[in-house]
Amino acid sequence: MKNGQCRSCGSYHVRSNRNRKFPALNTITLGSGNSSARYASLDTYVCVSCGYVENYVASHEDLNYISQEWEKVEVKSESPTRSQQNTEPLHPKPDDEFKTEALQAWGN
Ligand SMILES: [Zn+2]
Repeated sequence: MKNGQCRSCGSYHVRSNRNRKFPALNTITLGSGNSSARYASLDTYVCVSCGYVENYVASHEDLNYISQEWEKVEVKSESPTRSQQNTEPLHPKPDDEFKTEALQAWGN
């Protein structure tokens, strides 16, 4: 998604609010202290072709906090077949014909 290609449908019509000029409203709560809760703002990536959305924690400081404070998700080895599938892209890269069509449609 961050490379400009949708992970779900393979199109290149991805938009991001990464360089927004307004405060992020899209946040997650990292922890609740005695005085105030701590929030991390998220960078959002949206595919305007299929509507697929991805969120990323924006700051390294927040990532460090999460790394120290949140519970680690253990890797599950359910089925080797499934694990292997998960490492592959959901969709193959679209061929040149598809790209040309998509760009023309977008230009109009
Ligand atoms: Zn998409």
